[in-house]
Amino acid sequence: MQSFFERDIKYLPGVGPARSKLLGEELKIFTFKDLIEFYPYKYVDRSKVYPICQVHGDMPYIQLCGTILSFEEIGVQRAHRLVAHFSDDTGVIDLVWFKGIKYVLERLKPGVEYVVFGKPSVFGGRINISHPDIDPADKVELSSMGLCPSYSTTEKMKKSGLNSRAVSKLMETLLGMVAEPFPETLPQWIVARYGLMPYDAAIRTIHFPTDNVRLKNAQYRLKFEELFQIQLNIARYTSERKRKLKGFVFDKVGDFFNDFYSHNLPYQLTNAQKRVIKEIRYDTCTGAQMNRLLQGDVGSGKTMVALMTMLIAADNGFQACLMAPTEILAEQHFSNLNGYLDGLGLHVELLTGSIKGKRRERILAELADGSVHILVSTHAVLEENVNFYRLGMVVIDEQHRFGVEQRSRMWTKNTTPPHILVMTATPIPRTLAMTLYGDLDVSQIDELPPGRKPVMTLHRYDRNYNELYAFVDRELDKGRQIYFVFPLITESEKSDLKNLEDGYAFLCERFARFKVSMVHGKMKPADKDAQMQMFKSGESRILVATTVIEVGVDVPNASVMVIENAERFGLSQLHQLRGRVGRGADQSYCILVTGVKLTDIARSRMEIMTATTDGFEIAEADLKLRGPGDLEGTQQSGIAFDLKIANITKDAQIIQTVRELACRIVADDPELSLPENALLAQGQRARRNRVFDLSFIS
Ligand code: ADP
Ligand code: MG
Repeated sequence: MQSFFERDIKYLPGVGPARSKLLGEELKIFTFKDLIEFYPYKYVDRSKVYPICQVHGDMPYIQLCGTILSFEEIGVQRAHRLVAHFSDDTGVIDLVWFKGIKYVLERLKPGVEYVVFGKPSVFGGRINISHPDIDPADKVELSSMGLCPSYSTTEKMKKSGLNSRAVSKLMETLLGMVAEPFPETLPQWIVARYGLMPYDAAIRTIHFPTDNVRLKNAQYRLKFEELFQIQLNIARYTSERKRKLKGFVFDKVGDFFNDFYSHNLPYQLTNAQKRVIKEIRYDTCTGAQMNRLLQGDVGSGKTMVALMTMLIAADNGFQACLMAPTEILAEQHFSNLNGYLDGLGLHVELLTGSIKGKRRERILAELADGSVHILVSTHAVLEENVNFYRLGMVVIDEQHRFGVEQRSRMWTKNTTPPHILVMTATPIPRTLAMTLYGDLDVSQIDELPPGRKPVMTLHRYDRNYNELYAFVDRELDKGRQIYFVFPLITESEKSDLKNLEDGYAFLCERFARFKVSMVHGKMKPADKDAQMQMFKSGESRILVATTVIEVGVDVPNASVMVIENAERFGLSQLHQLRGRVGRGADQSYCILVTGVKLTDIARSRMEIMTATTDGFEIAEADLKLRGPGDLEGTQQSGIAFDLKIANITKDAQIIQTVRELACRIVADDPELSLPENALLAQGQRARRNRVFDLSFIS
């Protein structure tokens, strides 16, 4: 069977060299097995034929039967298209082609009865179907066609006649070549326990479903297996890492922690903060290296958790490092930490790219001799000449801003890797986290500090500025501070986006009674710092900025966030920006300003932002709008989600099930050497191109 699966696709009758080249280039189908695992992306019920008079623009794919009255070519260049007026006894509808016009004209003739299949939509006020599947009616046996699979194909394939139907034909040939059942790929005990459809039936059903119930079962079985193999891989990897990697043991909580807790802690910790600190405390005394992801929405108080974690390190004689993605944030952490730690006798230092000369040399020396307890830094810490005396704990703030490689470089600062806590407010949906960071332990702060009012989010069009400024006036009169965020720094020929420089000039004039600060990425660090300081102290009441303030910046008195050209920002960015307000006890506002014309995606983003302040909901929505491949952080992590059938967002329940199963199996049989797991061991070995090397994720 193995050799059958691995046979080159060009040997399949009906393929040949030209088509095999196409299949390889366009769909990465090289072998029989690749084709078998090329599953339909949807199914359509082709047993029903609609009369044209009942067709409307919101229908899914439908089937019509009738004749072409006439053809018409209209439009020029990109709008050039071929329209066929298609009619049955009940009405007329337009079929439209933008490409392959010559081919269509050669193949289709007026007066012949055709079966048309496609998705109706409304264009220019008329209902039409563009690029339909179309066949002579006498060639189609309507009654025998039930659920029809659709395979995704590319333009290039379609031009060579390799459309969905042709792929289905190939599938028929291929499956027809195998008379005996395909061997089962999962151990019998798993198939039985989870009531799964056998592999053979699942494969045959997925390509040629007879009814909806069997189709659902087949899909479940194949998704289950796909996700299970991934989770099994992660579980094996994690268990091996935990067995092999030694970590520092922080066996006590000492004076630094206790003194801070009883004298300096400015508020009560939330229960979520307490729980996470306990989880970290537990991890760091097991003797294994901690590798923990801390997720907590913006404003949930992750910094305090980081601080107390670092105090535990200090209590055990280790140094700690807090890494921030921007200088602004590093400086803010540094000044906050100094405030919090006042009088405890801890030596905290700041190291960024703009700290140079004598001061830098002194800090480097004090890091190396161990007199610095806590270092707050940016990527500057990754440089080779930065060496620690005894680095025991690294906290990486806003981890999505760091590349994988940068994160992994922290490991090489020691022979024994330090404990690592990565913090993020870009909530990775649970299902994605399980797949992406399967080997990281995940902690969650799922509770905001008490007394916070949810930020009220409004979407406003840019023609209503007067109202907006009047509102800002009222907030300023109440003593509040305001952010204005712009997508660009300077005017650009290429785009008509609002820019910060013009915005700053305008706002200075419009709100002349107050001082206005400005920060952006191109400013000198010292200027940036001075401007930030001015805003933080309340001396300036308006801060005009680019997205440099997106992460971390904490000014509780700021209560309004105005985002210009909000349509230009992604959901997670908008959510981060919104997180800059709502940090004090007052009602805060986030105002998303856009033009009137918006793309569908931009409009959905505005709707989601105004509907919810829950970061997890937003992340889920983001995933749905963009697909996991685009999610921030997943691209740079280099892990391709080439899932063949499962869907990370939609199949959360299955992921949960298979993860538990995988963990149990690995706990009992880490090497998969028991006879009942033989098939699993084989499956894991066969996972081509799927090395989930998560070792360097953190
Ligand atoms: P983030 O999780 O976004 O990094 P921060 O750590 O910046 O959030 O905390 C947001 C704000 O909440 C800060 O002003 C911080 O002082 C405050 N804060 C944190 N924890 C608590 C708490 N338990 N009670 C009250 N305020 C808190
Ligand atoms: Mg933060």
